[in-house]
Amino acid sequence: MTRTRYTALLVAALLEMSARGWAQTPAAAPATAAVPPDNPRLVAQKQEAVKGVDELAKLAQEMVDSVFSFGELGMQEVETSKYLTGQLEKFGFTVTRGQSGMPTAWVATWGSGKPVIALGSDIDGIPQASQKPGVAYHDPLVEGAPGHGEGHNTGMPLNIVAAIAVKKIMERDKLPGTIMLWPGVAEELVASKAWFVRDGMFKDVDVNLFTHVGGNLGVSWGQAGGTGLVSIEYTFEGETAHSAGAPWRGRSALDAVELMSVGWQYRREHLRLPHRSHSIITNGGDQPNVVPRNASIWFYFREIDQPHMKELVEIGNKMAEGAALMTNTKWTSRILGTAYPRHFNKTVAETMYANIQKVGLPEWSDADQTLAKALQKELGNATQPGLATKLNELGPPTDPERNMGGGSDDIGDVSWNMPTVTLSYPANIPGLPGHNWSSAIASATPIAHKGVVAGAKVQAMTVLDLLSKPELVKQAWDYFNDVQTKDVKYVPFITKDTPAPTHLNTEILAKYREQMRKFYYDPGRYSTYLEQLGITYPTVRTTPQ
Ligand SMILES: [Zn+2]
Repeated sequence: MTRTRYTALLVAALLEMSARGWAQTPAAAPATAAVPPDNPRLVAQKQEAVKGVDELAKLAQEMVDSVFSFGELGMQEVETSKYLTGQLEKFGFTVTRGQSGMPTAWVATWGSGKPVIALGSDIDGIPQASQKPGVAYHDPLVEGAPGHGEGHNTGMPLNIVAAIAVKKIMERDKLPGTIMLWPGVAEELVASKAWFVRDGMFKDVDVNLFTHVGGNLGVSWGQAGGTGLVSIEYTFEGETAHSAGAPWRGRSALDAVELMSVGWQYRREHLRLPHRSHSIITNGGDQPNVVPRNASIWFYFREIDQPHMKELVEIGNKMAEGAALMTNTKWTSRILGTAYPRHFNKTVAETMYANIQKVGLPEWSDADQTLAKALQKELGNATQPGLATKLNELGPPTDPERNMGGGSDDIGDVSWNMPTVTLSYPANIPGLPGHNWSSAIASATPIAHKGVVAGAKVQAMTVLDLLSKPELVKQAWDYFNDVQTKDVKYVPFITKDTPAPTHLNTEILAKYREQMRKFYYDPGRYSTYLEQLGITYPTVRTTPQ
């Protein structure tokens, strides 16, 4: 391989990583798929599924744009869940709600018997990410409000379109099996999937096909890159006193929070390289002249395997103990979220990859590429390659020795309980920082609409594979039992009593929801959300800044 070619591949891989918001080992190994060939009936069914998805492209666009306009944060996905379940009920799915005590959780099913194939995707947004779609610079709809600064508005519409297309074929051809759809509630807080697993949401599921927005169409198997994560809030309790009149009679919980924080920063130097950790102070007291009685600090502890995650939690607990001793306060802690490191199924990934090769990438218009390149320039990226035009290879397992950390997703907990893969689909622009307004720009434009349609075709074809070839489901479980979980077992961080953190983000939505409501998409009056907002697509800077 020439050096230029290698550099180009490396750059493409790095852009893909940041588009996904987590580090992944660059895909290098060629596909070695041992997927059994499709019989003529399955070939025809897949062609019909592709046609069926194309016929649902308008519905996909309406759902993508609607969920984008709701822009809700984790645990507050009220409008989003109401809207998506309404669509599913309209198409004959049975919906149950409120799983694991989460008001925005739901499960939709259709069909009967085995296999049970689950389709999942996240639905929550990012704080401070309000942004006009199709505009290649920071331009919020509502200043300070949340928005889809990762692109989680696109995944569930993809699954719904795929499920409707498959359902039609199953009905006509009398294919046995059950399709189940479920949302990743509060993924940005990794606060739902471990609870869903604990409470038995997936107990009858044979295979879980998860989807996550990315910059290309792809899938991987084996241990994934990135980290697992435990999210813990530490709360200290002291005593109030007049901060000037009698400070010696007070015991400051805020002092404990600050000492724990600074203690962690010193310790950081002596932690393993793949680790990541970050914190925010969620309660710093009430006012300066009252010694703070209560204060809280919220940590994300990330590592690449369960034993090392547990070690970080133990260090955190010791540090809280130390901070309490130094300040004569008491401490308690609460788990607010947890995500296992992800491991994906080889058989299912190979099956899905064969379909990815059949579907290929969408055809991008000049307008799509202009928007993508303008945004990459706006963000100061060294290169502006625009949107992906070449498929990635099937992603191989990540070598733990070379895994230098990165983001997390609580689909990891699901992946250690049944055969699971994550389909990455090209509904966003590569090369973005993630968790930022820039990731919202493409998320209600033709880029997202086309990426969702391509992904839905892959998802639908893969469901048909699993329904038509029972040996694939068996092989998937053989890999799960004999390879993946042979020596490594799932040890959850939550217990049967850990409550779901349904209080999260209540205040942010209470503050912004009424202003955001004015911008909800009305598909009855406008063909697209861009049209409703009066945005010319694409809008790019005409004068240099
Ligand atoms: Zn995500």
